[in-house]
Amino acid sequence: MSTHRLLQALFLLFSLPLLSATPHHQQDQETTTTTTPITRFQQYLRINTAHPNPDYSSAISFLQSQSQLLNLTAHLLHFSPSKPLLLLTWPGSNPSLPSILLNSHLDSVPAEPSKWLHPPFSALRDPSSGHIYARGAQDDKCIGLQYLEAIRVLQSQFNYKPTRTIHISYVPDEEVGGFDGMMAFVRSKEFEGLHLGFVLDEGQASVGDEYRVFYADRSPWHVVVRATGTPGHGSSLFDGGAVENLMRSVEVMSRFRENQLDLVKAGLAGYSDVVSVNPVYLKAGIPTPDGFVMNMQPSEAEAGFDIRFSPTTDPDLLKKKIADEWAPASRNMSFEVSNCPSALSLAFTANI
Ligand SMILES: [Zn+2]
Repeated sequence: MSTHRLLQALFLLFSLPLLSATPHHQQDQETTTTTTPITRFQQYLRINTAHPNPDYSSAISFLQSQSQLLNLTAHLLHFSPSKPLLLLTWPGSNPSLPSILLNSHLDSVPAEPSKWLHPPFSALRDPSSGHIYARGAQDDKCIGLQYLEAIRVLQSQFNYKPTRTIHISYVPDEEVGGFDGMMAFVRSKEFEGLHLGFVLDEGQASVGDEYRVFYADRSPWHVVVRATGTPGHGSSLFDGGAVENLMRSVEVMSRFRENQLDLVKAGLAGYSDVVSVNPVYLKAGIPTPDGFVMNMQPSEAEAGFDIRFSPTTDPDLLKKKIADEWAPASRNMSFEVSNCPSALSLAFTANI
């Protein structure tokens, strides 16, 4: 089977767990000895791999036990002591051909349990809607589990044996930059030894039976904008205060954000075509035991932004915009960009 046809089969098979998520009360009544794609998915979701303390070892144990049932070989790699990376392999009949890598990440962003309808790691399945509630369900444990479920079906129902070797990687720390996960992996001799020809990573979850393949992703920048200014009494009215400086920048950035969103709303661009600028924190003021000093204008203020831009955006121009308009030195502003490059796109060159 060609790579193309294999991927088609995988996509078709990926739909099975989602399709079977439509209400079937009896599935929730199953005994612990019977598992289904849905119950296995719930099992994976109940492992709390959210930051800041992801339980990687439990997730790895679960995935290893599943892979044993499929006769996949498993290698545990450590590029940082407490951050394991699981690499599964389904050997192909022609190992001289470039192999395929299917990737997903183990970790997820944190959850605020009090804001959830159901506890975020209960993986509760609403019997009336069939919906499963869990942090990490879409991003991206559904992908990690669908790889295994697809292989399970290919083996049991089609007796399929791949021509190319298929690797499946479960990487840690994707949500915090991937530096100790995918980035370390792609720079390792183990990665080089995989002789890869094609990589499939996460895209976007689908609520229907359509699967879209993305060939590029937006680049994330974490930008901190800082302002300094003359401190002063809360009653004084003067130019150049730090918070005032920062507020002027936030206004300019908000207008830019609105313009970008307007393009999407008007149907002139997709979300992936525009630059998203989202404020994530504001920091200023002099703390007291029960709040902040209220009659003093502080000399420092800062704000953090999650900025994402498309592959067609010129990063140098964006940086110039930040320097000239959003954090101009002429107003005692400075900024810092922490880059979170997509390790795969940087380090992997397709050679199929
Ligand atoms: Zn993700």
